[in-house]
Amino acid sequence: MGSTVALITNATIEPLYAARLRSTLAPLGKRLIQIVLPDGEAHKHWETLNLIFTKLLAERADRKTTLIALGGGVVGDITGFAAACYMRGVPFIQVPTTLLAQVDSSVGGKTGINHPLGKNMIGAFHQPQAVIADTAVLRTLPARELAAGLAEVIKAGAIADTVFFDWIETHIDALNRGDETATIEAVRRSCEIKAQVVAADEREQGRRALLNFGHTFGHAIEAGLGYGRWLHGEAVGCGMVMAATLSQQLGLIDSATRTRLKRLIAAAHLPTQAPILGSDRYLELMRVDKKTEAEHINCILLKRLGEALVMRVTDHTLRAVLTA
Ligand code: NAD
Ligand code: ZN
Repeated sequence: MGSTVALITNATIEPLYAARLRSTLAPLGKRLIQIVLPDGEAHKHWETLNLIFTKLLAERADRKTTLIALGGGVVGDITGFAAACYMRGVPFIQVPTTLLAQVDSSVGGKTGINHPLGKNMIGAFHQPQAVIADTAVLRTLPARELAAGLAEVIKAGAIADTVFFDWIETHIDALNRGDETATIEAVRRSCEIKAQVVAADEREQGRRALLNFGHTFGHAIEAGLGYGRWLHGEAVGCGMVMAATLSQQLGLIDSATRTRLKRLIAAAHLPTQAPILGSDRYLELMRVDKKTEAEHINCILLKRLGEALVMRVTDHTLRAVLTA
């Protein structure tokens, strides 16, 4: 681990949990550098990243320094990217504190920051040495953030595991309440699914794309409404309903399957009605997200609950869903 540890967190989480983490680290006898970033997606950019580099250099952190990300997906993504770049790569550990980060963003090694011209457009693949998720920290998480995290839990079940999907349906009230036993099981199984998918395709040449179920529509909603209006998980919840509608129109699933997914998303207190942006605008935003100029867009669709696939879909077909 080296002789120095840099604890990177944000101004909201620092007063809640940093002291506890510092006291856990104290017996190791390491030199501790603490870096507190401003809170929010709006700060997930170059200047914040540079704050980390400046502090690490000023404190003479060396190539063996381990960075620890204590926070949600924003802190995790920036810290991971800082670790990928600092002195051409130092180890880092994720200590995720939101449900979304515990079930999704802390696992898989995608790190990065936003650019004014696109979300998560600058980044690197850099795997954490460890991910340490303590569900007790979720007690202070606002209800809206908890629901947003549940969107990724539902996604994991929908794309990869029917039994898990059934389990989420049965336990949705407990999950909404933040029941500890149910939450631990949701975090455990979601991470297991994500880790399995990523292990088979770390650089997203194929199967890893299935984790983007609901995300092409979701990212278009986030960008189209202006970042921050809907949380990422809210947009993904609604995006999964849109993807299910598309799957039904293409004859892959029946209407009962789509209704089941929609009901579960609504039961998790997530939106299911797409905001009206106009189909031209949706298509434009979906092309930016997919980094493509092509006539068709690769969409993640449902074959059934528990199994997803990637399919090329034409604008014509997409328009039918976007105006529905
Ligand atoms: P976030 O990091 O902004 O956290 C949400 C809010 O909750 C913040 O205000 C944060 O300070 C606060 N918070 C965090 N933990 C808390 C706690 N325990 N108690 C009280 N408040 C707490 O948002 P997020 O949803 O965790 O992450 C979203 C980010 O994750 C996006 O930038 C997205 O691009 C990224 N992401 C990355 C991946 C990946 O694979 N790397 C996957 C999904 C999402
Ligand atoms: Zn997501």
